[in-house]
Amino acid sequence: MNGTDIGRSTLIGMPPWAIVLFYVLTAAALAIFTWGIVRLVRKYRMGRRAAGRRPAASELLRTFFRAIGNVTVLRDDLYAGIAHLLVLSGFVVLFIGTLIVLVDRDILRFVLPSLVFWEGDFYLGFSTFMDVFGVILLAGLLMLAVRRAFSRLPQLDYRHSFREEVSRRSMAAGDWVFLGLIFFIVIGGFALEAVRLVAVRPEFEVWSPVGWWASDILRSAGMDAGEASSWYPVFWWTHSAASLAFVAYVPWSKAVHMLLAYVSLAWKDETQNASLPAPPENEAGGYTAPTDLTWLELVGLDACIRCGRCHVRCPSSLAGMPLSPRDVILELRNHANNTLLHLRGNGNGLHRMTGDVIPEQTLWSCISCSNCATHCPVGINHVPLMVQMRRALVSDGSVDEQLQQTLVNLQRCGNAMGQSDRMRAKWTKELPFKIRDARREDVEYLWFVGDNASYDPRVQGYTRITAKLFEAAGLDFGILYEAERNAGNDVRRVGEEGLFEMLAEKNIRAFAKSRFRTIVTTDPHSYNTLKNEYPAFGAEYPVIHYTELLAALIENGHLLPVRRVGGRVTYQDPCYLARYNGLENTPRTLLDYAGVELVEMKRRGRDAWCCGAGGGRLWMEDIPAKDERPAEQRIREAAALDGVDTIVTACPKDLVMFTDAIKNVGLEGKFFVRDIAHYVWEAIEQPIPEHLEKEA
Ligand code: SF4
Ligand code: SF4
Repeated sequence: MNGTDIGRSTLIGMPPWAIVLFYVLTAAALAIFTWGIVRLVRKYRMGRRAAGRRPAASELLRTFFRAIGNVTVLRDDLYAGIAHLLVLSGFVVLFIGTLIVLVDRDILRFVLPSLVFWEGDFYLGFSTFMDVFGVILLAGLLMLAVRRAFSRLPQLDYRHSFREEVSRRSMAAGDWVFLGLIFFIVIGGFALEAVRLVAVRPEFEVWSPVGWWASDILRSAGMDAGEASSWYPVFWWTHSAASLAFVAYVPWSKAVHMLLAYVSLAWKDETQNASLPAPPENEAGGYTAPTDLTWLELVGLDACIRCGRCHVRCPSSLAGMPLSPRDVILELRNHANNTLLHLRGNGNGLHRMTGDVIPEQTLWSCISCSNCATHCPVGINHVPLMVQMRRALVSDGSVDEQLQQTLVNLQRCGNAMGQSDRMRAKWTKELPFKIRDARREDVEYLWFVGDNASYDPRVQGYTRITAKLFEAAGLDFGILYEAERNAGNDVRRVGEEGLFEMLAEKNIRAFAKSRFRTIVTTDPHSYNTLKNEYPAFGAEYPVIHYTELLAALIENGHLLPVRRVGGRVTYQDPCYLARYNGLENTPRTLLDYAGVELVEMKRRGRDAWCCGAGGGRLWMEDIPAKDERPAEQRIREAAALDGVDTIVTACPKDLVMFTDAIKNVGLEGKFFVRDIAHYVWEAIEQPIPEHLEKEA
């Protein structure tokens, strides 16, 4: 047998009209597919331009392999990650295999027969490869089906978080249709192969191991070659019809995520959460209609596979507040489809996006922790969407009284507390030394202290300890005194862009009048905006967090830990340090230098649980919640650790939130929250101030 004798017998006993009919149906399936894609593209073109970048070709390729490897899903949920990896790799290989057959059998065979290649050794290897990946795909589908059918995972519970009347049964049914259709196609492919190998049985077909084995079963059940030949067209049509139906179904169903997730991931602007996009140029200065979204955000809505990873990691959602990032995305998707596809953009007046479609309380429940975006496998950035809608609420005046008052305070006094700027540096009065005024003297480090660290009596003790640590290290540093303003990170996330810009401009003017090399800040929220957002306003200074500076001072020998403080503590990663800026290890190193035993909570680093203060929530009236609030949940989680009686943090807002939460859960006097500076101070053998000692 030579190489050209080795190849597949296809279309056994099929009349010519059947082949013609197949090509007609293929054309129809492709037409429906194309129509669906054109419709989507038309919808995306109704969105705004996405500011930012065009991925390079190498990046597109990298994203492809990252999507196949599906790192986000694997890291978060090993079972689902493996299942998805099996399905995706099986699907991609079978899809490429089908294209190879199409090119060889339907094009080259007629146009350039000398180039036909689907035969000989290539055919044998191809057959084995396709069989193996068919089994891989089936295994993945079975794993997903078992998970969906038997586990009671909260992420697969489609109950709506803010519209109880909404039924999601059609979504659950859609998921099963998607899984079932692929399963049916793969099983149908193996069945067709088995029938073919009963009808025509050359020995070399042992290279199709699954089909060969299945054909053995059919033969032992009594099927002979004649019977198989007469069944072959039935199996062939069933498999072909299901495959063509799947092609047509892709752009109209959840299956479209296979294409859109890739676009969403490849074009994703990784910096967008840390540095929010500018408002749209419309009257509201925020999102009020689907046409305000960028094309990439519209793609993201369609790419959502409703996996619920964001939903089960949203602190507000788990506290029983009326928010689920998943439901926000799905509601926006429905609204975009209703207005842009069915009403061709004319229906914007029917339902207001902010208020009717996404209730105000839902938007105000978000604490901008970004845990949703961090875990979204298709690259959706939830926080910018929330903020853009909040901007519209703010311009409408739809904010609660407490927030309104805070914004007035920020406007008038430059701080959230509404205190005079002269009081900003009052905390320094109790220091045994004078901190230099960076506006009058050159300093190496400008310490941007932040509102809570400056004004809040619950935090000021730690601010003084930090100052003493800097002084003990001989650091050349100063502060802006009354010229410092709130940095504006949370003002921006509340949606008050104008006020944010005003605060930023005032701070930047104060920076310009001072002489320094590096900004060091105590507050992770200020750290984020100074580092990531101020450069767009012309303030391009190196910005570091005080934990980074303390670690450097110890490493350079300017601070000398002389004793091991001891004790077992746990550490709370502030969202704006760990998740937004990847600063996880330095605070832990400091605890290590101080000789404190660190017991980690399960949710830590970029997966850490938020205290609930971010996005301006600290400044708002309470929204009714069905369960304990995020800070209280976190304190319970920390207090449940064996032998741990303290949660350490490096964020003034955490100190405030956890101080209250400890009281609320009844652990006052038994469980403590402390700033990390406390331990460094003790390690260099300095006495802790009396009022902080009392708490301890
Ligand atoms: S937004 Fe992302 S994480 Fe949330 S359900 Fe959709 S795909 Fe999953
Ligand atoms: S940012 Fe945090 S609070 Fe807001 S929707 Fe995402 S997970 Fe929920």
